[in-house]
Amino acid sequence: MKLKSRPKRQLHGLTALLFGLLSTAMVMTPSLAAVQDITIFECGQATTPDKSIFSPGIDVGVAYEIPINCYLIRHDKGLMIWDTGLADGLINKPDGVAIANGKLKIFVKKTLASQLEEIGVSPNEVKHMALSHMHPDITGNTSFFPSATWYVQTPEFEAAFGSNPEKFRFNPKTYSGLKNNKTVKLDGRHDVFGDGSVVIVPAPGHTPGSQVLYVEMPSGPVILAGDLWPFETNRTHNVMAPDNFDSEMTQKSTEKINELAKKTGAKIWIMHDRDQSRSLPHAPQSIR
Ligand SMILES: [Zn+2]
Repeated sequence: MKLKSRPKRQLHGLTALLFGLLSTAMVMTPSLAAVQDITIFECGQATTPDKSIFSPGIDVGVAYEIPINCYLIRHDKGLMIWDTGLADGLINKPDGVAIANGKLKIFVKKTLASQLEEIGVSPNEVKHMALSHMHPDITGNTSFFPSATWYVQTPEFEAAFGSNPEKFRFNPKTYSGLKNNKTVKLDGRHDVFGDGSVVIVPAPGHTPGSQVLYVEMPSGPVILAGDLWPFETNRTHNVMAPDNFDSEMTQKSTEKINELAKKTGAKIWIMHDRDQSRSLPHAPQSIR
């Protein structure tokens, strides 16, 4: 018994040593999987004769073209779409469609479908989808991605599929197909690829379950902020848009996301800011 137990103990010691080395190596060598790049698509525009309708007291009476962007995140483990823009069908209305009592006119000049095709991506390859929120300028092309798992905060899901979605200015016709997508309801943060490189972060207020996306690109982290701030000037002047579901909740979310940006060094991409959007390359180029 003694003879047998001795080598066994030695083996245990060696195994323990090997495991020790392995775990040290694992800690020292970060996972090789990572975000490769982000492609920004032009997913519509809105024009307004008065930018201040979204930023009370700032740029009063200034005409403005509001970009609407969608984003494709290419991670080693798969593709993710963040926001889907105005419905591609609007391309058939070259003069645009007036909404909000004529305060806004919406257009689609380039379809999302054609831009995906141009970069050689079939919508069926996109396996992950999340939306900053459920307004119609975000949900227009959700039906392109039936193979994607849809990540949604529970309060947003309940507002969208509840008894009165119009109360939140949602249009169920633009997203009814989502009920067939594999759906993951969230009550907080979600690490999409399990390595901390793409994280959905709740930022409620604009709508009940608004969220932002934190992405670690090769060049550094960014936060895709959805409609948390309509324009840069809202952020620099700390002015809330008047059309939020809950202003106080929005204010808290802006503080939280500013703090996240400060802590991580992330840039904040504000989708509807014209100058910022124009400064970033769009499809077919990508950003690393
Ligand atoms: Zn919105």
